[in-house]
Amino acid sequence: MALKAVFFDVGETLVDETRLWAAVAAQQGITVLTLFGVLGGLIERRQHHRKAHDLLAPDRPLADLPDIEASDFYPDAVSCLRECKAAGWVVGLAGNQPSSAEKALQRLDLGVDVVAASETWGVEKPSPEFFARMADAAGCAPAEMAYVGDRVDNDVVPARAAGMVAVFVVRGPWGWLQKDWPQAAAASLTVPDLVGLSDKLQRLPG
Ligand SMILES: [Mg+2]
Repeated sequence: MALKAVFFDVGETLVDETRLWAAVAAQQGITVLTLFGVLGGLIERRQHHRKAHDLLAPDRPLADLPDIEASDFYPDAVSCLRECKAAGWVVGLAGNQPSSAEKALQRLDLGVDVVAASETWGVEKPSPEFFARMADAAGCAPAEMAYVGDRVDNDVVPARAAGMVAVFVVRGPWGWLQKDWPQAAAASLTVPDLVGLSDKLQRLPG
């Protein structure tokens, strides 16, 4: 079936979150090394990253990630979005993000058709409802769209379960730690980055 839409996860798929997590560490009075190490441990334990706050700074208010800025995008991200638009696809950004991130992404004027966040939709990945909302927003059947993400558990497996083409980008701490999971084989396409992604998607057997 011909592809009509490509939707992207945000954190560690399009956006390098190093600056954002380092800011959280500073707000919480934790060293960057400690926070990043604990995050890796939580990923390996298959626990939610919010648990880092419970472990390291339970007496401080939970800090949200600061707003995403243009300079936080991975160098291949914006060109990939443009190439996907040029291929004629509906292009969207949809991730487990606060509504403030949705507004920050809209302000960046990335030329995409849809910007959505889990907090605004009231449903988070890996819930099937999140993927159903994306297909609604794209205006096509799930089988006519691809979802691109850095996590096997939250992106690849539920996208495939929803009937979408699932693209696994192996970068960021989740990508590196989850790439050897057996479930990573659910990916329709596994890539190290977003370079040339639109061509790779066009070459996928229908
Ligand atoms: Mg992500």
